Amino acid sequence: MNIQGIGASSGIGLGQAFVYESSDIEIIEDSLLSLEEEMCLFTKAIESASDDIKNLYERAKIRLGEKDAGVFQAHLMFLEDPEFTSGIEALIESGKTSTFAVKNVSDMLIAMFSSMDDDYMKERASDIKDVSDRLINILLGVNASLDSFESPVIIVAEDLTPSMTVTLDPKMVLAFITRVGGKTSHSAIMARNMGIPAVVGLGDISDIESGSVLIVNGDTGQVTLSPTSSELDDAETLRKDYLIKQNMLQAFVGKETMTQDKKRIELVCNIGSDKDIPLVQSNDGEGVGLFRSEFLYMDQESMPSEETQFKAYKAVVESISGPVIIRTLDVGGDKDIPYIKLDEEMNPFLGVRAVRLCLKDSQLFQPQLCALLRASVYGHLKIMFPMVSSLEEVHLIKAELEKAKETLRKRGDSYDSNVEIGIMIEIPSAALMADMFAKEVDFFSIGTNDLVQYTTATDRINQNVSHLYSHYHPAVLRLIKFVAEAGGRENIMVGMCGEAASDPLLIPFLIGAGLNELSVSPYKVLATRSHISTLTYEKCKEYSKEIMNLSTASQVRDYLETVALNQ
Ligand code: PEP
Ligand code: MG
Repeated sequence: MNIQGIGASSGIGLGQAFVYESSDIEIIEDSLLSLEEEMCLFTKAIESASDDIKNLYERAKIRLGEKDAGVFQAHLMFLEDPEFTSGIEALIESGKTSTFAVKNVSDMLIAMFSSMDDDYMKERASDIKDVSDRLINILLGVNASLDSFESPVIIVAEDLTPSMTVTLDPKMVLAFITRVGGKTSHSAIMARNMGIPAVVGLGDISDIESGSVLIVNGDTGQVTLSPTSSELDDAETLRKDYLIKQNMLQAFVGKETMTQDKKRIELVCNIGSDKDIPLVQSNDGEGVGLFRSEFLYMDQESMPSEETQFKAYKAVVESISGPVIIRTLDVGGDKDIPYIKLDEEMNPFLGVRAVRLCLKDSQLFQPQLCALLRASVYGHLKIMFPMVSSLEEVHLIKAELEKAKETLRKRGDSYDSNVEIGIMIEIPSAALMADMFAKEVDFFSIGTNDLVQYTTATDRINQNVSHLYSHYHPAVLRLIKFVAEAGGRENIMVGMCGEAASDPLLIPFLIGAGLNELSVSPYKVLATRSHISTLTYEKCKEYSKEIMNLSTASQVRDYLETVALNQ
């Protein structure tokens, strides 16, 4: 039986399902058990958590080495710390459930450690959270672990948050499928970055049980339940073909990215963490066109200090030989960071998101700007601001940047005084004012994931409207062309870091419109370079002009398909 979803990340996954139950749990306060029974539950949970952590420690030692595995020893010590356990036992003795008691004591400790000034102490808060979550999941029988599979699986879930996705091990996760989500939800983007095939927005998946065999086609969006042996054979052939094609692309390693008539395009990568650096290098990315700094914040249990950020940014710019564009914090919308308390909003994608939040909260913005400026002396770093909608915001951003420079000057810290700054063009008002913005900043990067959603009023993560969400919409393409031309007139770099940048069908239009940089998932670098090498710039210019005369997304798509056939 087949179910149809949205192909979110290429490749074929073939294997057993692991159904992930979300731990959105209700914690009961008063115990209905006897004191002895409740205490016994708690003691058993401690024993089981201790076994899990010891196990993780042994595995981590092999994979990461003794030093990095040490974190699990710290977890173990905390789990056995009488100060922690006695507080819980006291609450159990007063008639509370062990789950309530664990949560209560941990929350108190987490709040205490998070408020400390010392970075080392702050980090303890995340260890406590990790241990208490483990205990609570054991007590409630919830399997919340997505990072410690014994054998490869296909994850089946309601949805995966970015912080859950970031912990997936591409060797153990053959694919994932989710009930909700769209092609440009952040977990889909991350799956592409990690090379994990994914299908999202499948709707009802309640029939799938852990252990059942699935075929996931991340290109077509088709998921096959309980496949026949001939379906399995076909999928295995497809999987092998996919891997052979990937191997053939190796011929493009070390080559320049250019069209047949020598129009050079800068082909850089989208990354979310310094852990992605090896991927940029192994896939021969020419730099970083978008470092989504928010994932650095999501990896933590509390706000990363200026120093932590500085080290992460420095690590990236030092190890990448080309330019590195780091985007300032883009939180809000579908990206939530628990310790950054955002107000409940009716329309979070239209609310206090990204640079709007940073401009409201200097204490959030300044440490990041200082960290970025300090890292700028270690390589070719450029700073990019997301969600800019007006020129006034650019002026406010520049004032904040000056303030950060002033702080560094007073402290005697060095920074590159010519550091380039750019903005994302992802809101129609910014696109339409591109000629004015181009006089104010050093570069543009078009964020189509949001530009499509804001131009067509189509929520990027709502599968009920995913048929309306298309980067072939002529309105979106007109904006892109306008931005490219406006940037071209002022001689600034105009790139694209939205998902559309790696769509082979659209690339002839993008090059013809005048974009000079494309930022794609590291996994897409070689395929994109190979594709660009088949194009002719002069012809691309004609196509992009022709497309301006088309009136629907399907006309544009048909036209681009004809172009692809005639290449
Ligand atoms: C975009 O909107 O196209 C983009 C690259 O930013 P994000 O997907 O992180 O919102
Ligand atoms: Mg965006």
